[in-house]
Amino acid sequence: MVGEAEKNLLEGLDPDQRAAVQAPRGPVCVLAGAGTGKTRTITHRIAYLVHTGHVAAGQVLAVTFTNRAAGEMRTRLRALGIPAAQARTFHSAALRQLRYFWPRVVGDAPWDLIEGKLRLVGQAAHKVGAPTEVEVLRDLASEIEWAKASLISPDDYPESVRRRHRTPPVPAEQVVKVYQGYERLKNQAKLLDFDDLLLHTAAVLEDHAQVAEEFRERYRCFVVDEYQDVTPLQQRVLNGWLGQRDDLTVVGDANQTIYSFAGASPRPLLEFTRRFPDASVVRLERDYRSTPQVVTLANQVIAAARDRPAGSRLKLIGQRAAGPVPQFNEYDDEPAEANAVAKRIKDLVDAGTPLSEIAVLYRVNAQSEVFEQALTEAGIPYLVRGGERFFERQEVRQAMSALRMASADAPGGELPELVRRSLERVGLTAEPPSGGSARERWESLLAIVELAEELTATLEGADLPRFVAELETRAAAQHPPTVEGVTLASLHASKGLEWDVVFLIGLVDGTLPIQFADGDEAAVEEERRLLYVGVTRAREHLWLSWSLSRSPGGRRHRRRCRFLYGLIPDDHPTARVVRNNQHNHSKGPAPKLSCRICGRSLVGTVATKLGRCTDCPSDVDEELLSRLRDWRMTRAKELKVPAFVVFTDATLMAIAEQRPRDPAGLVSISGIGAAKLDRFGGDVLALVNDGPAAAG
Ligand code: ATP
Ligand code: MG
Repeated sequence: MVGEAEKNLLEGLDPDQRAAVQAPRGPVCVLAGAGTGKTRTITHRIAYLVHTGHVAAGQVLAVTFTNRAAGEMRTRLRALGIPAAQARTFHSAALRQLRYFWPRVVGDAPWDLIEGKLRLVGQAAHKVGAPTEVEVLRDLASEIEWAKASLISPDDYPESVRRRHRTPPVPAEQVVKVYQGYERLKNQAKLLDFDDLLLHTAAVLEDHAQVAEEFRERYRCFVVDEYQDVTPLQQRVLNGWLGQRDDLTVVGDANQTIYSFAGASPRPLLEFTRRFPDASVVRLERDYRSTPQVVTLANQVIAAARDRPAGSRLKLIGQRAAGPVPQFNEYDDEPAEANAVAKRIKDLVDAGTPLSEIAVLYRVNAQSEVFEQALTEAGIPYLVRGGERFFERQEVRQAMSALRMASADAPGGELPELVRRSLERVGLTAEPPSGGSARERWESLLAIVELAEELTATLEGADLPRFVAELETRAAAQHPPTVEGVTLASLHASKGLEWDVVFLIGLVDGTLPIQFADGDEAAVEEERRLLYVGVTRAREHLWLSWSLSRSPGGRRHRRRCRFLYGLIPDDHPTARVVRNNQHNHSKGPAPKLSCRICGRSLVGTVATKLGRCTDCPSDVDEELLSRLRDWRMTRAKELKVPAFVVFTDATLMAIAEQRPRDPAGLVSISGIGAAKLDRFGGDVLALVNDGPAAAG
């Protein structure tokens, strides 16, 4: 007999979702793409099991990975009438359990949760003579987190990074020493970090039969959302919770794995039936979130993935009514892009779209600054999620005080140079650092230098005090916190969420995929999945944009995100540019026939020219490329011809990627024939062979 509550719960679910909701108690695995209702299905499953008397609400523990997602789940469970079911992050669940069991297991030895590990990592690094710049410390901290999340002890660290082809921030032997020193200092201070919460919880459950029994009496039914991002450490905790039982429902999408860099792996999801051969497996493919237009684009993005494991080749089928086609927009520079986005948002809001239904998503937090500025100027309230507003970030605050101090000394000189020099003191280097957090910081500092360049270009006699005043005005204007506004968030922070309108901005190579992913195919693929996550956040309106240079009047040397090739419709202006280039040079010498990156045969003239598939990772020498562009501009001016007559962008790119050392290498690039070799060969080879000083 089906009661009223159960009937209501099953309504609003499709037959596949219903199968997952009604599956008998025991292992259940829902493998499904974005927007197919996974989160909806598990919350309904919990409610269904409770309402049908299979489990008491208080015996359910649902876990996910972010506080925001856990909060969302709690809201949904409350709406379904079961507020007593727990929905937590792994960490908050472990924290609670540890607080409860600790006195019995360890006695009264008290402990505190560490507040940021940088200080102790710094002390440990100092002791062993490792670098102690804050960027390096952050990367060391992330590295320790990765190792702990991956259940790798200091002793095993060097072998593990070797096996995984992982590049440590400092030599592996030094990481080991810092890792050991950090653990020692932390234990002496009776502190636990986040990973310790999980480690200790697992250990308590493994080593103390009575505690485990009591816990398992209390919690009987487990649910994990976003299971593709589980780490080995979290899996160990989950195993501790379960014991020999199998009442576990997991849902996930291997195509949305975006935390492998932090130790997450989709394998437990994909191998779930190997572990639980009796599991009910449900696949969902109807996408209820997005219009068919958005769904088609999402399918295209992920279909191009190189390393899709079996079980992730799900194709979404859009269920909603047709909507606007996704827009691709190219701009000269970032402020132009940001202003266009702000204007579009204004139009949408005027037409009735609520601010909370709009999101601007980006790859690195530093990208938000220009958009914060444009939104502020347009009077559009916004919230920054999963990161701080630009002027509240630690490095920006440090930069501001360094600039204030420098300004008090009233030094002479060019403003951008003065700013650059002051910021060197807080960590600005000439070349971007390679680590993730170091890169974020560096980008923020660079953004400040660019503001200085902008001010110099727009204001006669701009000096340091004036610049500091300008920054303070901006900080004040961006300051007011709001409750209702456009969401600004990183792609990582957007997982699981949805909005009517989504802007994916700053889609240029080097940012997405992020530069340090280059040359590492697995890392590039994770970047592609980030784009997939971004695309699938949109219910209706999707806008993808990029700009060719950072600041107005700057060199337009950027290229749009490589994952967009093949996605932009043929009648799009930027697609036409690419085709025209192909056309101009289709009569080059015999092309190389296979991609030098992936080895597949090459299709299309741009691919032929580049010697690689257009969507294969580029190994361009950026610095050489920019010198080639400068040289081309000078030559074009001398010859009074448009730049592409000297060489097209695609040819310059091919040169900067293949770096031919001699005339034979040069003419093997399609588009460079005898005439061009005669005319420009000497200059180009000098640029390639001799570095910056050549061919000046
Ligand atoms: P993600 O992979 O992005 O986390 P998901 O699979 O968890 O996505 P949900 O957030 O559960 O997807 O659902 C996406 C949207 O589709 C939500 O707005 C949800 O309410 C709606 N939805 C899900 N199932 C149905 C259904 N059967 N009928 C109508 N709407 C549905
Ligand atoms: Mg979800």
